[in-house]
Amino acid sequence: MKPIPIMRPYFTDEEAQLVAETLISGWVAQGPRAAEFERLVAKYEGVRFGVATTSCTTALHLLFAALGIGKGFDVIVPSYTFVATANAVEYTGANAILADVSTDTYNIDPERLESLIQSRYEGGVNKETGNRLFGIVAVHLFGLCAPIPAINAIAAKYGVRVLEDAACALGASIGEKREGTFGNPSCLSFHPRKSITTGEGGMVLTDDYELAERMRGLRSHGASVSEVQRHSSKGYLLPDYDELGYNYRMTDIQAAVGVAQMHKIDEIAADRRRLAARYDELLPEAAPFLRTPFVPEGYGHAYQSYVTMMRADETSMASIDETHAKRNALMDALEQAGIATRQGTHAVHTLGHYREKYGYRAEERMGAYACDRLSLALPLYAGMTDDEQDYVIEKLQELHAKE
Ligand SMILES: *Cc1c(COP(=O)(O)O)cnc(C)c1O
Repeated sequence: MKPIPIMRPYFTDEEAQLVAETLISGWVAQGPRAAEFERLVAKYEGVRFGVATTSCTTALHLLFAALGIGKGFDVIVPSYTFVATANAVEYTGANAILADVSTDTYNIDPERLESLIQSRYEGGVNKETGNRLFGIVAVHLFGLCAPIPAINAIAAKYGVRVLEDAACALGASIGEKREGTFGNPSCLSFHPRKSITTGEGGMVLTDDYELAERMRGLRSHGASVSEVQRHSSKGYLLPDYDELGYNYRMTDIQAAVGVAQMHKIDEIAADRRRLAARYDELLPEAAPFLRTPFVPEGYGHAYQSYVTMMRADETSMASIDETHAKRNALMDALEQAGIATRQGTHAVHTLGHYREKYGYRAEERMGAYACDRLSLALPLYAGMTDDEQDYVIEKLQELHAKE
């Protein structure tokens, strides 16, 4: 059996063909392909506008900057997420306040979110720092939507915004509603670890025309005329740069890959769901020490990652730490057998910048800590064969029997 990676991008000849066309056309910076990619993704998600960027990290930063988030504001972020979610808040000068998550869904827990708001804020103002609470970043971790109806209701009650980090959530849904249509701007990633990839890339989705226009300007150094306009009739005119902007433009070379990826999104999404269902069916018997991902009723999981949890007493540090050692030994043994695994993602409050700036102790966000220490992501990618998946499952069973 060849080594099984944690993920592998799914390309056909079309990606290479569209990239070649783009190179030959001579327009390699942001142009018509990026605009086409934006339209394809926005249409797929059911949203009016897409603003393509160089990554989800820069998409988040662009959105936050366009909304005026900065010094003097707090933004609540889940404590179990990729560090970029919190970093993008901190880039603006605002403080990322970490909320604990549910170990079932890995997403923000609405009850703990509301008690965090009640204990820290008085009339929207942080009782310790005087910062104003701007909003909440709901992360749809690993492709499962955060409980947006509850989060939207809490945000409305306290008069703050909800912004979505949908890096993992292209195609995810709650009931009939696709990610992107929950009434909030959201940010996608096209890193190779996600469902579709452009190498690196991201996009902000929104129904708000003014916000989209503002982001298009800030994405391009703060220009008040678009690149396409600049290259059309009066190409000799420079745009105005009225405010401090960024260069966060996705290139047309990347977008060409993205367009080809969007042409097979249904196939990719269906394959990921099929493989996840197969793990769901076979793991409980083969590897009873693992808890398979929980999907609340009515939620459509996109399975950017298939993340299991080692069973342990999640309320006890001793039990978590003991099982953590077993998980790492298992990951080692799997690596020896040619199977790549990862922990789901990290507990942000335990990472250097956040631990030092805010003085968090690990046990202050127990849900996130348990997810960090106990999670185990198994290989899953479009094009993974049944034989490859069976090999992963057999090895898990074998290693369990040896214990
Ligand atoms: C991958 C990821 C990001 C960062 O995406 P990039 O495109 O790599 O910048 C942000 N948030 C979450 C939840 C992610 O999984």
